[in-house]
Amino acid sequence: MVKIKDIANALEMFAPLPLQDDFDNAGLQIGLTDAEVTGVLLCLDVTEAVVDEAVALGCNLIVSHHPIIFKPLKRITGSTYVERCILKALANNVAIYSAHTNIDNAPGGVNYRIADILGLKNVKILVPKEDALLKLAVFVPVAHADAVRDALFAAGCGKIGNYGSCSYNLNGYGTFMAQEGCNPFCGTIGELHRENEVRIETIMPSYIKNRVIKALLDAHPYEEPAYDIYTLKNSWENVGTGVIGELPEECDEAEFLSVVKEKFAVGCVRHTPLLGRKIKRVALCGGAAGSFASAAMSAGADIYITGEARYHDLFSYAGKMTVAVIGHYESEQYTMDIFSEIISGKYPALKVLKTKVDTNPVCYL
Ligand SMILES: [Zn+2]
Repeated sequence: MVKIKDIANALEMFAPLPLQDDFDNAGLQIGLTDAEVTGVLLCLDVTEAVVDEAVALGCNLIVSHHPIIFKPLKRITGSTYVERCILKALANNVAIYSAHTNIDNAPGGVNYRIADILGLKNVKILVPKEDALLKLAVFVPVAHADAVRDALFAAGCGKIGNYGSCSYNLNGYGTFMAQEGCNPFCGTIGELHRENEVRIETIMPSYIKNRVIKALLDAHPYEEPAYDIYTLKNSWENVGTGVIGELPEECDEAEFLSVVKEKFAVGCVRHTPLLGRKIKRVALCGGAAGSFASAAMSAGADIYITGEARYHDLFSYAGKMTVAVIGHYESEQYTMDIFSEIISGKYPALKVLKTKVDTNPVCYL
């Protein structure tokens, strides 16, 4: 039996909720975590037609990219489409779960998928997340260093780029004097003790801090383990906004834009004046991400592709870097494929369907 919380866990293994931006509201929107899933309907946006479709298909879970509950609600009376969707979902026992900026920012997330569809190589995060990493240093008696280190890695420490189990280990000795009432692992109460110890240093995302400290305390033999946690100014290179990569072969600007138009089925690609350059370095960010064009230019991109950009923002790039605007829905449509791969990969027998409702609110003449 697959429960709503199993699907939520599978999605959050890939795109942990703490990776979402501050303004966001990703996660379970409506429903009970212990309910059994009868089927999953995937979409970018929840509309009333999507809820109807889920009911008709026997799916009691909708997984969307955009959260249906984004701004706080004061009442649910059916006066807006959001309120009507909520009422309809509740009336039909349909749960709604959303993975939004957490899956935008995650390694292998929405922007990696867009890059993949465009055939980009050497893809990296365009704007890595700041102030999200911690350094842990812990002092462990030599015979227990391996066990503590392994426990830290199992809790999620030591990931740098594509490497795992990263640590630095320095031998030295610690001193301590146990007081009356202590129950020391080694040494004698009232006597200064010297113990050979290893200083284990490793790195972790700040959101797993509590889990790591618990693992440390469980694995460490001392009554009062000594450890330090430092905030780091390093960027988190694997996580963040947008991506930048390279085309295998440089390509004519207009030709490249035609490929983008075709691959994303865009009714109309809006772009700044063409510069007559070849395109090799491509930066992109799905959704409303026009403001990240400056990061693309700093990173030396030949072109920046996004879902939405403001008219006045585009003036800054005319003559310097091509900016192409391909539509919010169009840029993020392949997010449904990521959902499908995560859920069906873990639960192959479960019914997982993509919506057939066209929820794009933008049409082209
Ligand atoms: Zn979006």
